[in-house]
Amino acid sequence: MIELQKVWKNTLEGLSANVSAVNFGLWLEPLEPLGVKNGALVLVAPTANVKKTASKPSYSQKIKESLVARYPTFSDVIIIEKDESDSYISEMEETLDGQLVVMSDKKEKTCPFIEKYTFQNFVVGDSNKLAFHAAETVAKKPGSSNGVLNFNPLFIYGGVGLGKTHLLHSIGNYIFKNYPSLKIEYVQTSNMVNDYFTALNAYSSNKDAMLKFNEKYRNVDVLMMDDVQFLVGKTGVQEQFFHIFNDLYGMGKQIILSSDRPPKEIDLHERLISRFQGGILVEVGMPNLDMRIAIVRRKMGAEGVAVNDDVVFYLAEKIDSNVRELEGALSKVILYAQLLNQSSPTLELAKEALKIDENNRAEDIDSNSIINAVCSYYGLNKGDLLGKKKTKAIADARMVAIYIVNDMLSLPLETIGQIFGGRHHSTIIYARDTVMEKLKEGNKKLERDINDIKSLISGN
Ligand code: ADP
Ligand code: MG
Repeated sequence: MIELQKVWKNTLEGLSANVSAVNFGLWLEPLEPLGVKNGALVLVAPTANVKKTASKPSYSQKIKESLVARYPTFSDVIIIEKDESDSYISEMEETLDGQLVVMSDKKEKTCPFIEKYTFQNFVVGDSNKLAFHAAETVAKKPGSSNGVLNFNPLFIYGGVGLGKTHLLHSIGNYIFKNYPSLKIEYVQTSNMVNDYFTALNAYSSNKDAMLKFNEKYRNVDVLMMDDVQFLVGKTGVQEQFFHIFNDLYGMGKQIILSSDRPPKEIDLHERLISRFQGGILVEVGMPNLDMRIAIVRRKMGAEGVAVNDDVVFYLAEKIDSNVRELEGALSKVILYAQLLNQSSPTLELAKEALKIDENNRAEDIDSNSIINAVCSYYGLNKGDLLGKKKTKAIADARMVAIYIVNDMLSLPLETIGQIFGGRHHSTIIYARDTVMEKLKEGNKKLERDINDIKSLISGN
């Protein structure tokens, strides 16, 4: 059974994100829950002044929204003054407990964010402390309620594998847990671009399609867009997004963006760039050696394995490109140790594990063997895979092939573009990231496909 105090406490938590700290402390926090009357939560104000102010629509409406979002069985709030409470108590409903029991039956929403991407699991150091701090600040007070400091939008930029998505999910996890009434939309920009084209294609037969697209992104309290560099060259989506941005911003909703480079280096419409620069801009950089050591240790802790210090140092020193690769190298070492039934990998084994990886890359495998394996796996012909056909089966297989080529061979993106019928490198990035994203989202079929194809390749 949910207690009234808890109902009010949770409602207040939702409100703290929408009201400035000063007003929150003056007019909302002093209210005390008294009971339920005709489905309305009765709150007692300590003074006439608090009652008068909190009853103004600008506050009472917000209280009601926060309450109803969490406890839909309530229909309203009533704010009374202390003197009035005696008469109210006598009128209070007998069914108080019954109603509250019903409320506790409300289905829990499942959290859409990756569980392990939290602030606690993020190693902070010189290369990312500003970004971390900004992300935490925004998570604690999303929207335009930060007073003089403007954290809207929060724009996080930095190279691949340096923790941008991790920070966005950390914000998501935090808000989801602490402000359950807030509606958060996290989107990979490439998916938003897809959504837009789907809506556009459907438009002639279904006028609601574009409306739905707009609603999805407008009807939120927090909008997170990961990898906004994917808006480049998509003027139609840029245009739509510009309006969505302005509407959300105007309503004091929080916008959080990430990109592989700072706004002014992204080839977007000038007015969009200036919006992106209007809030706070923070960079995530490559962690230094100490941070890399800490990251390896933390990851080992999460996996529940013990690794000797010399192995930790070796990995942290050797892999200085990005954190994703560092994690990948550690996984390889752990996997290799398991294969050889070693409980804790030695330095020799670690070197061996990573060397095998290098050999594989350099020697036997070339793009041809990967493309052949993908074609035979999906039953397609090579001309189609490398050509211009856009049917789903071919387009999907093409993305998988691009992903594997990029994953297994260390080739420049431009070269991969050449291999795949002279495609632009942005297309290659798009394909790679789309597959990566699906894998991250836990697409088991795709994961199996890729593993099977990889074993086909090494079997060749
Ligand atoms: P990006 O989105 O910038 O390409 P990700 O957020 O996907 O990078 O990070 C890649 C991997 O590295 C993830 O598994 C993430 O948890 C990890 N990672 C990155 N930075 C850190 C950090 N500072 N502490 C712990 N893990 C990190
Ligand atoms: Mg990312």
